[in-house]
Amino acid sequence: MERIYNFSAGPAVLPREVLEQAREELVNWRGCGMSVMEMSHRGKEYMGIHAQAEADLRELMGIPEHYKVLFLQGGASSQFAMVPMNLLRGKASADYLNTGEWSKKAIKEAKKYCTVNVVASSEDRNFSYAPAQSEWKLDPNAAYVHYTPNETIGGVEIFWTPETGDVPLVADMSSTILSRPIDVSKYGLIYAGAQKNIGPAGVTVVIVREDLLGQPLAGTPTMFDYKVHADNESMYNTPPTFAIYIAGLVFKWLKDKGGLAAMERINIAKAQLLYDYLDSTEFYRSPVARENRSRMNVPFTLKDPALDEEFLKGAKGRGLLQLKGHRSVGGMRASIYNAMPIEGVQALVEYMKEFEKTHG
Ligand SMILES: *Cc1c(COP(=O)(O)O)cnc(C)c1O
Repeated sequence: MERIYNFSAGPAVLPREVLEQAREELVNWRGCGMSVMEMSHRGKEYMGIHAQAEADLRELMGIPEHYKVLFLQGGASSQFAMVPMNLLRGKASADYLNTGEWSKKAIKEAKKYCTVNVVASSEDRNFSYAPAQSEWKLDPNAAYVHYTPNETIGGVEIFWTPETGDVPLVADMSSTILSRPIDVSKYGLIYAGAQKNIGPAGVTVVIVREDLLGQPLAGTPTMFDYKVHADNESMYNTPPTFAIYIAGLVFKWLKDKGGLAAMERINIAKAQLLYDYLDSTEFYRSPVARENRSRMNVPFTLKDPALDEEFLKGAKGRGLLQLKGHRSVGGMRASIYNAMPIEGVQALVEYMKEFEKTHG
């Protein structure tokens, strides 16, 4: 069977070129006689792969020298705890923006370690928008401000960077990292699970300003202390070597594509194709406020939810998979990360038009 178009929210589609290169190199990596999976993480081959992946990520995102790049495990969900454990630095409270299911999880976990001040919330309208900065009630004494620039489930994205003065800004970028250029210097810490826009599940990227390290909460496990990982170049223990290798191939692929500014142009075009069609018909509907429509995760509903099952069945028949929406939103969700080619979005829109014609 030919490859299908995979609209999964994560683990998600990877670039075909990356998969093919990995296959080429799987059994015998560049003539060294073994697979990357079999290499010592302290050996020169793997150390080279690791260093190159970091260098390429730094180049792609323009990460300044005084930031550490960590390749950790435990997913973005572990960061919900690691962030307060490391960044409270003697303070009693942290500010959190609540824009959806992932924000809520981050807030719930942070409450184990500190007082959480929710600066603003969009729960009043089922997380269909992001509150403007003018509505945020920031606390100048907060240890940090945490937000989720792209809510993967609700499909709500914030395209501006919050202004938090001297209070470090922390972002869960799991589903938007690498989709467009960002100014890393505006952030104290950025984290992202890999399985949306970076690579396979198993590695979590943390980008953190150096001066924030070294004051973990008493009792913080060694493995949860950023400084331990920073001082050991993410090799305090065995890193997820194969996942980092694939992520490295994705970084090279992004560089070949022209970097993040080029990716942003493509991502805008892809998202526009889908949203323009959604806006042109009554048959489908986007539940998200226009200015917050995610370029990565596009939820939409059918006018008649009784047709959902048939829609999904027909989509599957055309090789358009994983379109079922999250239960909290209902309907459909098309995740169109970097690795989703524009042809996949075109095929989806074609199918949606045809389905409307036959069922509208
Ligand atoms: C997927 C996701 C998570 C959870 O990531 P895990 O790696 O499964 O822990 C957290 N935040 C956002 C925004 C996500 O999209």
